[in-house]
Amino acid sequence: MTEIAGRWPRPSGRGKQVNIKRGICVPAAAVISGDCHRPAVWSGVVQVRYRYRLYPSSGQQKALARAFGCARVVFNDCLHVRDEAHANGEKISDTEVQRRVITLAKVTPERAWLAEVASVALVQACQDARRAYKNWFDSLGGRRKGPRIRHPKPRRKRGRQSIRLTRNGFSLRGGRLYVAKVGQIKVQWSRDLPSVPSSVTVIREPDGRYYASFVVERLATPLPACHREVGIDLGLASLVVTSDGETVANPRFYRAAQRRLKRAQRVLSRRRKGSANRDRARHRVAVVHRKVRDARLDHAHKVALRLVRDNQAVYAEDLCVSGLARTRLAKSVADAGWSRLMRCIEEKAARYGRTFARIGRFEPTSQVCSACGVKDGPKPLAVRTWTCAACGTVHDRDVNAARNILAAGRADSLNACGTGVRPPLTAAAGAEAGTHRSAA
Ligand SMILES: [Zn+2]
Repeated sequence: MTEIAGRWPRPSGRGKQVNIKRGICVPAAAVISGDCHRPAVWSGVVQVRYRYRLYPSSGQQKALARAFGCARVVFNDCLHVRDEAHANGEKISDTEVQRRVITLAKVTPERAWLAEVASVALVQACQDARRAYKNWFDSLGGRRKGPRIRHPKPRRKRGRQSIRLTRNGFSLRGGRLYVAKVGQIKVQWSRDLPSVPSSVTVIREPDGRYYASFVVERLATPLPACHREVGIDLGLASLVVTSDGETVANPRFYRAAQRRLKRAQRVLSRRRKGSANRDRARHRVAVVHRKVRDARLDHAHKVALRLVRDNQAVYAEDLCVSGLARTRLAKSVADAGWSRLMRCIEEKAARYGRTFARIGRFEPTSQVCSACGVKDGPKPLAVRTWTCAACGTVHDRDVNAARNILAAGRADSLNACGTGVRPPLTAAAGAEAGTHRSAA
C-alpha cells in the first residue's frame, strides 16, 4: 500500500483539505478550500479542555461537598418546575424558573442553605438543566439531529459530582485555583494553560479524586500536508482495521480487570451498609474502574494521534453504538470505547489541520466488493474472508469494509465541493480498490 501512496502525484499547492458538509461530518478547524465555491476559512483556534488534579484541604472538601449538593438540588428542582409547567400546559420562561428555584427557594426554611454556596454554581446548574430540557424537547419535536434524547435524569448523590463556574466564580491566584466560597485550592499544574480559561468545572470522582477541568482556546498547529487518506473500520476482534490493511489490536481493558473488579465488588457487597468498611470497599471498586478508564483513554489518544499524523484525511463509519450496546455484545462494545476513540480522532484532526469525516450509517460497507463494486449480499459476522462472485477477489471482511469507507468518504468530499477538487487522487489511485465507486 505504501507503493500506491508513493505514486500519488504531488499536490498543486491548493485544495488539499476539503470542507465536508454532509450528515454529521466534522471538518477540521483549519479549513482551506481549493476550487470550492465556499469562501476559504481559516479558524486556527480550537476549544479544548485541560484537566488538572486538585488537592483541596479538608475544610475545602466540605465546602465543595456543600456546593455539589446545592447544585444538584437546584438542577433537580429545575427539572421538577419545568415538568410541572409542561404537565399543566403552562409556558415558563428561563428567568422565572431560575427565580423560583434559586431566589425564592433561598428564603424558604427548607432551602435556606442554598445561600451558603456561591450563586454562580447554582445559576450554572440552572443553565445545565435548561440545556438538558431543551435538548430533550428539540429531540421530541424533531428539531435536533442525531439520536433520540431522553428526558433528563435527576442528578444523584452517588458517583461523580461537579459544579460549573464561569469567570465571576473563580480565578487563578498565586498558582492556586480560587473558587468562590470555597477558597484557594492547591492545583497540580501538570502542564501550562495555553490561554485564560473561560470556565471551570470542579469535579469529584467516585474514587475521591478532585479535578479542575478548564475550557481554553488553543491555536491549531497544522502538520505539514501529507497525501495519504485512510478509511477505518472499528470492530471488536481488532479495534481498528485501516484500508491499508493495518490493524490495531483491541486491548479489552475491562476484560483484563474483571477479576480484580469482581473481587472488589464481592467485598463491597458483604460490608454492612453505612459502615466505614463499606466506604473503603466502595473506594476500591471506584479505583479499579478509574484505572480501566484511564488505560482506555490513553490508548485511544495514542491510536488517534497515529491515524491523524499519518493521514491527511481519516474516514470512519458513523456507528450506532447505543443500538449495539443493547445487544449481548454490550460489555465488549462498551469496553472497546469506539465513541471515545472517534472523538479523539476528531479533536486531533481539528488540532493538526487534518480532515475527519463520518460516513452515513446506511452504506453497506461489508456487503459490497471494494474491487468491483458488486453488492454481494449480507454476511454473518463469523465470515472473516470471502471471495467476490463477480471478480474473484478474495477479501478480508474488515479491510474490505475500511476500503469501502474510504471510497465513500472520498465521494462525500467530492460531492461537498463539486467535482474537480481533487481529481488527481481518484485518477492516480485507479489501481486501488474501491475508487470506482467514488467515480460512479
Ligand atoms: Zn468484486
